[in-house]
Amino acid sequence: MKLGALEAGGTKMVCALGDETGKIFEQVSIPTTTPDETISACIDYFKDKEIEAIGIACFGPIDLDRNSDTYGYITTTPKPGWANVDIVGRVKEALNIPVGFDTDVNGSLLGEVTYGDAKGLTDAVYFTIGTGVGAGVISSGNLVHGMMHPEAGHMLMVPREDDAYKGHCPFHGTCLEGMAAGPAIEERWGAKGKELADRDEVWDLEAHYIAQAMINCIMILSPQRIILGGGVMHQEQLFPLIRKKTEEMLHEYIKTPQMKDLEHYIVPASLNDDQGIMGCLKLAVDELARS
Ligand code: ADP
Ligand code: ZN
Repeated sequence: MKLGALEAGGTKMVCALGDETGKIFEQVSIPTTTPDETISACIDYFKDKEIEAIGIACFGPIDLDRNSDTYGYITTTPKPGWANVDIVGRVKEALNIPVGFDTDVNGSLLGEVTYGDAKGLTDAVYFTIGTGVGAGVISSGNLVHGMMHPEAGHMLMVPREDDAYKGHCPFHGTCLEGMAAGPAIEERWGAKGKELADRDEVWDLEAHYIAQAMINCIMILSPQRIILGGGVMHQEQLFPLIRKKTEEMLHEYIKTPQMKDLEHYIVPASLNDDQGIMGCLKLAVDELARS
């Protein structure tokens, strides 16, 4: 079965062709400029490819309520020009096929639980720590939407005692995104994360905030596993630090086999950065089944 996959990001759109097994046949990257220009370029790519359905995993916030008049819209994004854009409607009108739609992070999570190491898990969380922080959640086998969709990147942090940084989030200052996303690292330390690889204090503090997020996530959602992806998590030394601090902050409050084996509980993404696009393929499969 030939399927389309569109990973819609704030800086680029990845368009791909693949199938229901998660196999990717080809993919291209289109820079994200204005909605008209960008969406048209994506549609042009898919137009003559004879795909049966397409899945879109999109930056947000987006409207996922199928009963809403603005279902399939990018809603209140601060990204200039992109608020109130009917991305699903435009793609559906042009291609006339089923269009699956979810957040970028739910897409990556769906890729991991369908095709990755987390295959078969019913309760899991996927964090991306990059330009922003976002989290996708699956609970009892369903991607969580609820009122809108989780925005766990904006959970509030308790600043470390020695940390006076005011945070980078224009809405909350010291939320997780404000303290731990790539731009926060850059502003706080005066260099990009990549250039700070050998500065232990950078990653110790970074892990302090990510571990708080792990605790909140464990306490609220009780996931079977937490997957950490995104550019910042390419700093692999973060993983043991995050696990250690998570263990310390838990204070043995939860005593499950998973909490004794955090190495297999807090894990990196397993699909070579294809988890998002593979998740889109699954969104397409699921939408086809619905239609
Ligand atoms: P986006 O979130 O825009 O989709 P990424 O997940 O690649 O893209 O995140 C980009 C952010 O991650 C930037 O702030 C960048 O500085 C940071 N970043 C990218 N690669 C690394 C790395 N190897 N180490 C630390 N930080 C990185
Ligand atoms: Zn915030």
